[in-house]
Amino acid sequence: MKKIVEIKNLVHEYARRDSEGNVAEIVRAVDSVNLEIEPGAFVAVLGANGSGKSTLAKHLNALLMPTEGTVLIDGKNTEDREKLLDIRKTAGMVFQNPDNQIVANVVEEDVAFGPENLGVPTEKLEKRVHDSLKAVDLFEERKKSPNRLSGGQKQRAAIAGILAMRSKCIILDEATAMLDPVGRKQVLQAVLELNREEHITVILITHFMEEVIEADQIFVMKQGEVVLSGTPRQVFSRKELLEECGLTLPDAARIAWGLKLKGLSVRTDVLSMQELEEELNGIGVSHGGV
Ligand code: ADP
Ligand code: MG
Repeated sequence: MKKIVEIKNLVHEYARRDSEGNVAEIVRAVDSVNLEIEPGAFVAVLGANGSGKSTLAKHLNALLMPTEGTVLIDGKNTEDREKLLDIRKTAGMVFQNPDNQIVANVVEEDVAFGPENLGVPTEKLEKRVHDSLKAVDLFEERKKSPNRLSGGQKQRAAIAGILAMRSKCIILDEATAMLDPVGRKQVLQAVLELNREEHITVILITHFMEEVIEADQIFVMKQGEVVLSGTPRQVFSRKELLEECGLTLPDAARIAWGLKLKGLSVRTDVLSMQELEEELNGIGVSHGGV
């Protein structure tokens, strides 16, 4: 099957300039990255601040051009100017700050903005906006001003706008970082449902470990390189490497490691509190003993 994302030897360099405008330093923000993503997958990208996640994300939407290497989105090369609109439509991006993504005064107009610009006819547009608002559970809010929405609702409106364009892939670049725990949960729930029910590819860039436990695959970045990839269980079993990348383990795994260091022979690749509890019951540690 055709990959939705195919990145070959991607390098991205930024030129840092001094006050006179001369190139003072070349920063290699993405360094020889190779990765492939299957259509319909739920993929997470982890990495400390400055590891190159956003730079990589911007290549998926043709917001940046490779210094070296190639990026294919649904088979289309991001350097092909004629495919630009198609690529932006295929891979929709949700950014960190919900307030910067609002373009209209009414929620449903905001959601209609993207597809309208793609030339979707009015009668089709209405149904798309309706369906997209329903999908992210914002239909009741459709007549409101976006400014009156919570942060989580604003991000869901941005996702609805992408859905209304019939995008095959949604990229969330730390889109939950500015939200409270409730908003974060709602946004995550909305994208998980879209992934499972509509088979939309989700690329979730985050530093919240708990959000990536259900991912099909995780890529871990460090200084521009993908240094680790695999299922959540594979990735979170690499405690030392993750720590070198400036990342911490999900709570359950962290507690399991703590118990192991105290001499308990407990599995450390647990992903959720429920798994940890089962493991502890299995080795005869009662709940009250933890
Ligand atoms: P992340 O999203 O993981 O925090 P970024 O992709 O934003 O990482 O940044 C990767 C590196 O590239 C960092 O060293 C950052 O300072 C640098 N960088 C990002 N954007 C620019 C830019 N526009 N000009 C110069 N350097 C940049
Ligand atoms: Mg970033």
